[in-house]
Amino acid sequence: MRAADIIARKRDGFELTTDEIQTFIADYTRDAIPDYQAAAWLMAVTIRGMSRRETIDLTMAMVHSGETLDLSDVLPISVDKHSSGGVGDKASLVVLPLVAACGVPVAKMSGRGLGFSGGTLDKLESIPGYRVTLTQNEFREHARRYGIVLAGQSANLTPADSKLYALRDVTGTVESLPLIASSIMSKKIAAGAQAIVLDVKVGLGAFMPHVAEAEALAQLMIDIGHGVGRDVVALISDMNQPLGSAVGNAMEVRESIETLHGGGPQDLREHCLVLAAHMLKLARKNTSEYSLAEFMAEAADRLDDGSAFEKFRVLIEAQGGDVSVIDDPDKLPKATLTETLNAIKTGYVQQLSALSVGMASVDLGAGRTRKDDPIDYAVGILVHKKVGDALHIGEPVFTLYANDPARLAQAKERLAHAIVYSEQSTTPLPAFYNTLQ
Ligand code: URA
Repeated sequence: MRAADIIARKRDGFELTTDEIQTFIADYTRDAIPDYQAAAWLMAVTIRGMSRRETIDLTMAMVHSGETLDLSDVLPISVDKHSSGGVGDKASLVVLPLVAACGVPVAKMSGRGLGFSGGTLDKLESIPGYRVTLTQNEFREHARRYGIVLAGQSANLTPADSKLYALRDVTGTVESLPLIASSIMSKKIAAGAQAIVLDVKVGLGAFMPHVAEAEALAQLMIDIGHGVGRDVVALISDMNQPLGSAVGNAMEVRESIETLHGGGPQDLREHCLVLAAHMLKLARKNTSEYSLAEFMAEAADRLDDGSAFEKFRVLIEAQGGDVSVIDDPDKLPKATLTETLNAIKTGYVQQLSALSVGMASVDLGAGRTRKDDPIDYAVGILVHKKVGDALHIGEPVFTLYANDPARLAQAKERLAHAIVYSEQSTTPLPAFYNTLQ
C-alpha cells in the first residue's frame, strides 16, 4: 500500500479502509512517510472530510502510535475533562481539586497556551517549584497516593498527533472537524480516560465561532468516545467574553484560589460547579441517583467548607510547588506597572471581545507568539465588566498589569477596541448553550 495511493483515494473522495488509515499513521509516526506526503493527506482530509468510522479509526491509530496509560489499578474510574481552549479559562485549576474533594480521584494531563488562549501548565508554573513534568510512574503514584495529579502530557503518548498537529499548524489544516476531534480524543483515550467531560467553547475567543459548528464538533467527539466504549458529555459554553475576571497566569491562579475558598467571580464559580457536577455524575453513574443539581450542591459545599482548597494545596505540595504562595497569594509574581482603562461612554456593554483581551494579554507577555517564547507569569488583565452590564463614563473597565512600557502601550491600543457600547440595555450572555451526550 503506497502513501501516494492513499492520498489520491482521499483526494478523490473515497472512504479509506481501517487498514489504510492504520498504515498511514504508523508509517508517518516512524518517519517512513515524509511531511510533504502527510501534509497532502491532511489537506485531502480537510477538503473531503471523513466518515464517522474513518474518524474513529484515525483516533485509535493515533492512540496506538505511542504508549497508553492504564489507570484502572490506581483509580476506581478515570474521569477527565477537556476544554477546547479560551481566554481566562482557569476551570481545571478549580474543578480538579473540587472533584477530588468530593471523593473522586482525578489524574489529568494538560497542555500549554496556544496563541491567545491560555494553558493550565503555564498557569501552574507561575507557582514557584511546581513540576509539570512527571514520569509515568510518578503520575500513577501521585494519583494513587494523593487522589489528584495534574501534569503535562508525556512525550510518549500519541506521538502521531504531536507530529500531525505541528504540521497542521503550518499547512492550513487545523480547521477540520475530524482532525480536531481525533486529535483531542486520541490524547484523552491514550491518557487512560474512561469518562470525559468536554467543554467546547464557542464565540469570538474560540476555535468555533458558531454554536452549530461547536455542536458538530462535540457530537463527533461523543461519537468517537462511544465508538470505543467511553462515556462522554459535551457542554457547549460561551467564549465570546473571558471567563471570570483575570487573564494572565499568576493572576488566574490567584482568582482560582479565591474561587477554591468559596469566593471568586460568580460566572467562574458557576462554570466550575457545572463541570464538576457532570464529572461526578459520570464517575458515580452506577452508585448514585443524584441529579445534576444535587451534584452541584455537593460541589458547592466543598468549595465553601474549604476542602477543595485543601485538595489544591495537596496537589501543589505533592508536585513540588511552594505552598506558602498558595496560602498567601500576595507572594505570587507581581508586575511593576499598573494602568486602568476607563469607559469612554455611558451605556451598556454589548460586546467584550475575548479574542481582543486574549491578544492583549499576549502583547503583555502572558502568552507566546512563537513556540519557545518565554512567558511573563506576572502580567495580565483584570476585566471589570461583563456583557449586559451598565457602564458609566470614567468607570474602570480593564486594569492592565505589565512589566514593559512598550508592551503596555500595545495592549492598551488593542483593548481600546475590545468593547462595543450600546445606548440600549443589552442581554447578558448565557454560560452554556447546550449539553450533548
Ligand atoms: N486541540 C487539540 O488538541 N487538537 C486540535 O486539533 C485542536 C485543538
